[in-house]
Amino acid sequence: MPDSRRRDGAEPTDPRTTPRTVPDACPGAWRRHDAADGALARFRPVGGAVTGAELRVLADAAVTGGSPLELTSRGSLQVRGLTAEGADRLAATLSALGGDGALLDEQGRDVPCSVVASPSGLLDDAARAVADALRGRTDVPGRLLVALDDGAGDVAALDGDVTVVDGALVLAGTPTDLTGDPAALALAAVEAFLEIRGSAWRVAEVGPERVAGALRTREHFGVPEHSEVLTWPEATSREVTPRLGEIDAPTAAVLADLADAGATLRVTPRRTVVLRGLADPDDALRRLAGLVETGPSLWSSLSACVGAPRCARSHTDVRGDLARAVATGRAGGLLHAHWVGCSRACGTPAGPVAVVEGTPGGTYRTIVRAGRVTP
Ligand code: SF4
Repeated sequence: MPDSRRRDGAEPTDPRTTPRTVPDACPGAWRRHDAADGALARFRPVGGAVTGAELRVLADAAVTGGSPLELTSRGSLQVRGLTAEGADRLAATLSALGGDGALLDEQGRDVPCSVVASPSGLLDDAARAVADALRGRTDVPGRLLVALDDGAGDVAALDGDVTVVDGALVLAGTPTDLTGDPAALALAAVEAFLEIRGSAWRVAEVGPERVAGALRTREHFGVPEHSEVLTWPEATSREVTPRLGEIDAPTAAVLADLADAGATLRVTPRRTVVLRGLADPDDALRRLAGLVETGPSLWSSLSACVGAPRCARSHTDVRGDLARAVATGRAGGLLHAHWVGCSRACGTPAGPVAVVEGTPGGTYRTIVRAGRVTP
């Protein structure tokens, strides 16, 4: 059944009985969202992969736009405050960088939906195979989320439409008996959904059982691989947390330098950055200290929408309010808290979360959500 809860409190629409007449409005590299501070472009790293060169280009564009580069709850990267020409230039510059698993390929094609993967690297090839098969397609809703989990649980709880956990398929949170090669299985599931979706954006809207039924008529999907011994986190890996997912220019410069020196960068839906293959992990953390959280931190359980003044709908300066609350010991706890400037609750992460919502009266109200929320 479709999830009846909506973040903005409006009456839900059932796309099975009331077909949508517009495509979803998720921004991408070429399709931008017009915000109060200018155009917002979103880039979807394949399995979280971003190169040092891509990070420099994104950070430079973010500086021009007047905001930090942003990490989203789906592991995407956002640049705000762009002009239309600046956004076109950014996409073209990224496209010229190219390479395997690039944000945009040489033809300028980005990935139309989120393809996230465990940061261990075991599923990097599978994520690339899925993303390459979907690049540039216009029949894939931007809201679709494909999650490939190596069994560690990194991305399995993300409210994915198509999730493959250790070779087993889960559709919109519902486990199936279908198993196979992660890339083949995920792609087959996406194609099955696209064939029957009508105007639906997400698997939950058509029902996971219908997608699974369509899949069972197909050939088998290869063999799941369990041969790798998981040695994660490796001794040469570290995970750091940019506050509120904001990567400013100095932080991007250090991360890009570490990538140039051979480290692999993975951004995650936890709004963190995983660095693998560091030559000297302690030195890397020293260089990043003061720029990002390099150890246990209150900020690990806090996130916020952009709020005022960058969003015209916001009732308040959410991020400023949150920083003051942290400084005075009024925020930060075991339950993840997501602060938002209005009832749309943009960017609310999947799973249990306290949504701290700004109200027109200038106060906040808190709504504890136990599970999945329809974006
Ligand atoms: S939750 Fe409201 S205030 Fe925050 S970014 Fe979304 S629309 Fe703007």
